Amino acid sequence: GVEVHGAHKSYGTNHVLAGVDLTAAPGSVTVVLGPSGSGKSTLLRVINHLEKLDRGYVSVGGEPIGVRRAGDRLKELPERAILVQRRRIGFVFQNFNLFPHLTALENVAAAPAATGDLSRPDAVALAEELLERVGLADKVAAYPRQLSGGQQQRVAIARALALRPGLILCDEPTSALDPELVGEVLSVIKDLAATGTTLVVVTHEIGFAREVADQVVFLDGGVVVEQGPPTQLLDHPAHARTREFLGKVL
Ligand code: ATP
Ligand code: MG
Repeated sequence: GVEVHGAHKSYGTNHVLAGVDLTAAPGSVTVVLGPSGSGKSTLLRVINHLEKLDRGYVSVGGEPIGVRRAGDRLKELPERAILVQRRRIGFVFQNFNLFPHLTALENVAAAPAATGDLSRPDAVALAEELLERVGLADKVAAYPRQLSGGQQQRVAIARALALRPGLILCDEPTSALDPELVGEVLSVIKDLAATGTTLVVVTHEIGFAREVADQVVFLDGGVVVEQGPPTQLLDHPAHARTREFLGKVL
């Protein structure tokens, strides 16, 4: 699971996270909603310590991220230890971020082979298995430019899975896709949810939130305005800001 406690993050005078609290149970699916600029990407980036918090605390699987306890204080971890933690957290980006010069297979096999987690043949075998799981068994040898956006994003999901993370963060995984390709990516993410991986997904796909999410979190003005099960938050929002936002995206 994931815990975010009193998270504060500013860029200059821009107080982007102003005391965010969030708990996601192990194996649960959390959908994060909020207007542009509300800090959704920043929240995902602090969860895997791509951004450092100014104040507050994140833990994943019960382990503090980026820091360790030293008596009653927190001390920053060395960069190498942070990289080890980050490998246990998959990240799927809006723009896929595949290596253009590597095939689909190589994109997926690269990380587990490079970290020494798996031998090269085992990394290749795992990559084949994962590409099959996302419906791309026939595209192992294709380069990203030879794939549709939806196919590229499915390779990116397979790549995130290759390090067998307990947690996967997805930042608007379908917002760069043509509408007819959105469904195939959401369906892969939905399958993932069924395997017990903890997921935190920033998306405005309300249908997906309704069908797959255990909880929906509405972020605005640097704080969690409201959170709850999808039926509650989407159908009976308690706050005017949530209602106003949903009125725009629904
Ligand atoms: P969107 O829906 O447009 O993706 P978001 O909710 O993901 O928005 P963030 O990307 O988290 O929003 O950005 C929140 C605020 O922080 C914005 O005002 C943005 O300009 C600012 N910001 C984000 N990253 C940085 C950075 N590295 N340096 C300075 N400001 C930043
Ligand atoms: Mg964003």
